[in-house]
Amino acid sequence: MTAPTRSIAIVTDYDWSYADQDTDRYVFEVLAPHLRSSLREGKKTAQWTDNCAEHLRRLHAEGFKQKDVEGALHTLPIHPAMRRGFRKTKERQDLKTTILCLSNSNSVYIDTIMKHQNDADLFDEVITNPAKFRDDGLLELKRRVDPNGPQHGCKVGCSPNMCKGAELEAWMERNGGWDSFDKVVYVGDGSNDLCPVLHLRKQDVVLVRSYRELFRRLQDSSAAHVSDVKCTAVPWGGAWEVEKWLKEEL
Ligand SMILES: [Zn+2]
Repeated sequence: MTAPTRSIAIVTDYDWSYADQDTDRYVFEVLAPHLRSSLREGKKTAQWTDNCAEHLRRLHAEGFKQKDVEGALHTLPIHPAMRRGFRKTKERQDLKTTILCLSNSNSVYIDTIMKHQNDADLFDEVITNPAKFRDDGLLELKRRVDPNGPQHGCKVGCSPNMCKGAELEAWMERNGGWDSFDKVVYVGDGSNDLCPVLHLRKQDVVLVRSYRELFRRLQDSSAAHVSDVKCTAVPWGGAWEVEKWLKEEL
């Protein structure tokens, strides 16, 4: 067996990045489309995690239980090429690959999907909002950063529930620091992914999903903070392109 010559971290967002859908919206689209509409309305006035928590309470009040939510999540698409790309990279003998999932979804959604898709062993850690089913079937969702405690104070624009940049820094500290990784590959699509991308170094890469918010921000050189990006940005549209990049460029 060859000893690994390089150490790689893959840090992936979940919705529209590792998963080919948005978990928060999808559950309502499958179970209660009227709540999906109302979720969009609620976004205008409530913080996103709080808005989702409120809509989960409404879903429960309408009689939907744990098995319904889990059933919806079991149909959420994970593209086989994305899974294959991650798995093949992790199996490579010449690389030591650590995979972190950094997501604004929640622990129940991600655990349920990962177990159903046999993906759980692929990820070394998942950092997301905490959630738990109550005995009566209500899914209780909370912000990762408690609204009643100290706030994260992010200046880039992360949502109050979590600063992905601060979470990435803390994860790095727990995992030997940036110098223990020859390269960090970040997979993301949303505006909340800009903050962690600003922490990446010159030798690191962000795989940005085309035509979504992170892509738009990075395309606009006059947008706030974009001139501070040090890593290389590589656009992708379909999971097959991530698989191809991981295979050929790492
Ligand atoms: Zn931030």
